[in-house]
Amino acid sequence: MDLGVHLPSLIPSSQSVYVLLFYFVYLAVAGEILPGKVIRGVLLSDGSQLRYRCNGLLALTLLVAILGICAKLGIVSPLVVADRGLELLSATFVFCVLVTLALYITGRSSSNKSSSLKPHVSGNLVHDWWFGIQLNPQFMSIDLKFFFVRAGMMGWLLINLSILAKSVQDGSLSQSMILYQIFCALYILDYFVHEEYMTSTWDIIAERLGFMLVFGDLLWIPFTFSIQGWWLLYNKVELTVPAIVASCLVFVIGYIVFRGANKQKHIFKKNPKTPIWGKPPVVVGGKLLASGYWGIARHCNYLGDLMLALSFSLPCGISSPVPYFYPTYLLILLIWRERRDEVRCAEKYKEIWAEYLRLVPWRILPYVY
Ligand code: NDP
Repeated sequence: MDLGVHLPSLIPSSQSVYVLLFYFVYLAVAGEILPGKVIRGVLLSDGSQLRYRCNGLLALTLLVAILGICAKLGIVSPLVVADRGLELLSATFVFCVLVTLALYITGRSSSNKSSSLKPHVSGNLVHDWWFGIQLNPQFMSIDLKFFFVRAGMMGWLLINLSILAKSVQDGSLSQSMILYQIFCALYILDYFVHEEYMTSTWDIIAERLGFMLVFGDLLWIPFTFSIQGWWLLYNKVELTVPAIVASCLVFVIGYIVFRGANKQKHIFKKNPKTPIWGKPPVVVGGKLLASGYWGIARHCNYLGDLMLALSFSLPCGISSPVPYFYPTYLLILLIWRERRDEVRCAEKYKEIWAEYLRLVPWRILPYVY
């Protein structure tokens, strides 16, 4: 890559700022006015519960429809993201820095004592800015953490669609690109169909909103998870039929495990008596599910997610490590996260957790890890 050529495109232009502004304003308005199931978040330590309106699927469908119509009328170019990728990336980075500085300043001065807004100040500026000060800060009654993760997941699909339009326009559309696009689109749509599950994930319940999370949601997810798509724009791959079948199998099995495990935990938390795979659930200490996927390994959901990540890269073949950035990163992240989650659960559940460890000794992949 010639850095001399690409460096100037890293400077955000006014157009890239307008694109971002339009996107955030649309998401804020759509999130507030579109109908959607209102979900209560997990019980916070002070006994309060936040409410989340899960209308992401409708907001996304409407946005894609609006952009599609605007593209047809020539008002917007479908290539706007693919052509301005680096500019949008740097504009998003600047936004992440500014918004997290604002979160740091407002968080520090907050006198609110609730679990979601209470300031956690260590006194180390970099630490507090990086990890955040408040658990669930809001802006104009919008839950920012839920908002940013939604923006990141939708942004990933929009980037992919623009890459797809570019590959159609320059005549490079390949089977690899089609497979990559289908797998990612199904994963992202599935995320929004099950958006309510997000409300009980680690990021929402345990992580404070600082630069790490904002950067992860707004920049890391859309711009690095789409590396395979960018790579396929410039590299031709001839897939054999067995390679196509293998990629599809990894995707389908990964999806079944990922969605099945997350669904079982979600259902169990709502009603611990619901049968798992047709049998009464095995429950440890009345709190932890030890059957179904949660009886095979303590984080089968991570295993499914890792298989899905691999399936997004397999259509790129094995000629380059670049398209394997996402599964490699996810492997490191999920092993790290699983370790932190274990510590948290050991503290929270004490002897119940020890009993669960005895019943289910595998962390992510049975007989391996
Ligand atoms: P989990 O959904 O696995 O949630 C972990 C929590 O679940 C624990 O802290 C505990 O919380 C509860 N729990 C753990 N074991 C049990 C059990 N046996 N029975 C009942 N409850 C249990 O983790 P994450 O929030 O990290 O991940 C959610 C999904 O998001 C995963 O599928 C993951 O792969 C995906 N993800 C994807 C990322 C990406 O970049 N693509 C990044 C991070 C996550 P409690 O205290 O409530 O009981």
